[in-house]
Amino acid sequence: MNYNLWENIIIQERARLALEKIYTRNTYPPALIFIGQKGIGKEAHAIAFAQSINCEKINFEPCGLCERCKRIYNLLSPDIYLIFPQPSTSSEKDLFLRKIDLIREKKKLILI
Ligand SMILES: [Zn+2]
Repeated sequence: MNYNLWENIIIQERARLALEKIYTRNTYPPALIFIGQKGIGKEAHAIAFAQSINCEKINFEPCGLCERCKRIYNLLSPDIYLIFPQPSTSSEKDLFLRKIDLIREKKKLILI
């Protein structure tokens, strides 16, 4: 099995290009904020980018085979912290709790 997240998410090309540009410059900001409409894959892109910069292979396209790629794919990397905004409405709270359940169950990131 290949654990390359970029091959397992629905890619927003504009976001991917921006992230690839940051990677290529090799100058990282202290933080990146992924914003946008619900369901466009903000979390998936953030985690895929984390895989890109942590993969043992020196390339934006992660190998999907090394231990770091596997750990990040399975959300088991001790170096990756997921931070979500606090939900303000009950429906957002329900969605937030479902996302947390999915992460805990280690389901496919595309479902987040
Ligand atoms: Zn890798």
